[in-house]
Amino acid sequence: MKYRRTFLAYGTVMILGLAALAPLAHSQGQATPMRVNPLGQDAYWIEGGVGSNAGAIIGKDGVIVIDAKQTPESGRGLLAEVAKLTTKPMTHVILTHSNLDHVDGLASFPKGLTIIAQENCKKQMENPRSNPQNIDLRDYLPTKIVKEKESLTISGVRVELLHFAPAHTSGDLIIYLPDQKIAFTGDITVTRLPYPLIHLEDNGSSEGWIESMKGIVALDADTFVPGHGGVQTKAELQNRLANTAARRAKIKELVAQGKSLDEIKTALGEPLTPAASRQGFASFTEVVYKELSKS
Ligand SMILES: [Zn+2]
Repeated sequence: MKYRRTFLAYGTVMILGLAALAPLAHSQGQATPMRVNPLGQDAYWIEGGVGSNAGAIIGKDGVIVIDAKQTPESGRGLLAEVAKLTTKPMTHVILTHSNLDHVDGLASFPKGLTIIAQENCKKQMENPRSNPQNIDLRDYLPTKIVKEKESLTISGVRVELLHFAPAHTSGDLIIYLPDQKIAFTGDITVTRLPYPLIHLEDNGSSEGWIESMKGIVALDADTFVPGHGGVQTKAELQNRLANTAARRAKIKELVAQGKSLDEIKTALGEPLTPAASRQGFASFTEVVYKELSKS
């Protein structure tokens, strides 16, 4: 009997293990080990798993989590990492935007949390543009909406929530901690590509991106946590802003001269076909061209 029970137990563990792995096959990214990086003053950023970076700030009585990763497994992994930092409960989640690599992990979070997001982020979550994993977020829709600016104190932590303009998406929200001088900037500041990724399909905007970056670099912050990749300094963001603004101005000039998209790409030394790393999303040049030739 004992052998049999042990065998059954192993069998069950194996089946559960395989079931847990299965959804990863449908996700857009590969799981990497999760790593918790301290930022000082009880703030952390968490990379790895499947999906974007996340954040955690430990307050007097509870924890604020920023973004939720991409899969229920990674969402669970994120909560397990936070639980290693503190026994205080997670009470609030703040979302930088609606893309699935930032929100779908919510599905394994406890229900009844205060979930804060920009109003367009909520609308996009109610009607997801892409839902390959069939994630049901109806119990995890934002419960508190921010339009442009909101100053809150959550569990003793001062938090400023800022939406300057549509940028990466129309529902971007920047989470600024004035006492820690840290800003979580979501995918506005991702540097994986030479120029920003703007989702026109989520009503993002290259002009709004420039406005948002001006707002971000004007913050009294030293550390900027992007949606993907390592932390950035203000000088790095200022540099990216200047390069991108110059690129946009150049594209604008070429559009005004009546150049075609292919002619503009050639003039800028870009390949005519998009790189595979963009996962089918339009390049910055394609986005700006589309925006400027629309009117
Ligand atoms: Zn992302």
